[in-house]
Amino acid sequence: MTAVAAPAHENPLIEGLERLPVHPTVLVIFGGTGDLAHRKLLPALYNLAHEGALPERFELIGIARREQDHSDFRAVARESIERFSRRKPNKDVLEGLLADMRYLPGRFDDDRVYARLKRTLAEFDDKAGQPLNRIFYLSTAPEFFPVIAGELGRTGLNQAERAETRIVIEKPFGYDLASARQLNAQVLEEFDESQVFRIDHYLGKETVQNLLAFRFANALFEPVWNRNFIDYIQITAAEDIGIGGRAGYYERAGALRDLVQNHMMQLLALLTMEPPTAFEANRLRDEKLKVLEAIVPPSTDEVAEMAVRAQYAAGVVGGVRVSGYREEDGVAPDSRTETYAALRLHVSNWRWAGVPFYLRTGKALARKVTEIVVTLKPVPHLALRSTGSVGVQANQIILTLQPDEGATIQLGAKIPGTGMRIRPVNMEFRYGTSFLSESPEAYERLILDAMRGDATLFTRNDEIEALWGIIDPILTAWREDTSSPIPQYPAGTEGPDEAKSLLAPRHRWNRL
Ligand code: NAP
Repeated sequence: MTAVAAPAHENPLIEGLERLPVHPTVLVIFGGTGDLAHRKLLPALYNLAHEGALPERFELIGIARREQDHSDFRAVARESIERFSRRKPNKDVLEGLLADMRYLPGRFDDDRVYARLKRTLAEFDDKAGQPLNRIFYLSTAPEFFPVIAGELGRTGLNQAERAETRIVIEKPFGYDLASARQLNAQVLEEFDESQVFRIDHYLGKETVQNLLAFRFANALFEPVWNRNFIDYIQITAAEDIGIGGRAGYYERAGALRDLVQNHMMQLLALLTMEPPTAFEANRLRDEKLKVLEAIVPPSTDEVAEMAVRAQYAAGVVGGVRVSGYREEDGVAPDSRTETYAALRLHVSNWRWAGVPFYLRTGKALARKVTEIVVTLKPVPHLALRSTGSVGVQANQIILTLQPDEGATIQLGAKIPGTGMRIRPVNMEFRYGTSFLSESPEAYERLILDAMRGDATLFTRNDEIEALWGIIDPILTAWREDTSSPIPQYPAGTEGPDEAKSLLAPRHRWNRL
């Protein structure tokens, strides 16, 4: 397509996406008929088109197994965009996007698909009168990542003359450290690291990027952002629903792989890394890698005292009775897959030595919330004690990623009256009220960055391996322990009591 954006009056509040020129591009979605393509990728592309953020010339090709023609693909793409786009589609923009969308049917291991793809790419180049940049987006089950990367390499599609070729790889990147290493080796056999964009869509979220703004655009926090002032840090990613119909996926994954290894560890890295000298892909990822390498993975023997796993049992969520994990359809009655995981980690460097980091995530908990709670040390001397200092508490900085995105600083304030009585009060910033514009979806930002060749918000090969390296001993210890009972927590509660065993004296999990 050639670009048609929505008229400016329909769209007065675009602030989220900078409009830097993007080289003409063709995006190839492997798995173009899948759930992710329908719910996220195609609607994200529509919203980029709406905002005029797509390149002047942009083409899209979907590849998947089912037999259908271009018009079937366009019809389904239209339906997905109408249903899932965050804004109501503008007719002209939508028609412009759909007009020349192509579909290539075939199996990912079939050479004929790649021959057809080559012809279609050449046709687009001819039509444009210049070579288009190529982005291969692997929105497929992970077993196809090496297959597709291998085929692209073998057929010479891993590079193009006078244009950039990039490969975007969905999560999960590996199943454990060994498989992540193997996948890295397979992909890097065909592509240079600078061409590889590994997705962790969490990094595309505005609120996650705001962590960086919060830390590095304010002089206020840096002086206290260390072991001298911070007592402990807690990261929570809680969901109030169970696994829904996703038993097949979840039984193999579990909470540690599903959320901790990727999203929560990324939050930990952004929170603890040293300030990068520039917001540039390798500078930022160098700093993340350094701090991840400072997290000493537990030995298998240490796992029991620093990690807790559990499963939800039957309970009540939002007034509705729900069944326990082991009773869910598709879950083995003796399943040992964790729906809850809590960890205590340490970052062994000058900034963080001695500060515990508590991470917890779970399904079917009391409330849906993703937040980081930084608890500062208590004041060193409480001069107010003699006059009564009821309620003095350590300061907390709470960064909420969802819902109700924003930041809260909890301070002690004097309760009005003649005595010196103190109570915690909140200073709040909320995204929704401070910025009236609607945030772009994570996939909008990430697709655009991949088109621009900016890998800052994507995970580098060494970073992926460092992330798995921390989690791997826990996975191994849990896999090898086939007999000790898995703690159960009633659905709709705070999680298992066992998680308290991870906390140092005086520390507590914030209430959900
Ligand atoms: P999905 O719905 O199962 O889609 C799989 C796609 O691959 C379909 O287009 C399917 O084509 C195609 N396919 C399967 N086997 C094929 C073969 N042998 N040859 C050619 N095409 C084949 O999967 P998804 O949920 O979209 O997930 C895709 C990736 O995104 C996964 O890595 C997942 O972990 C990741 N992801 C998904 C979500 C999400 O919300 N769905 C979120 C985050 C990450 P047919 O339809 O024609 O069979």
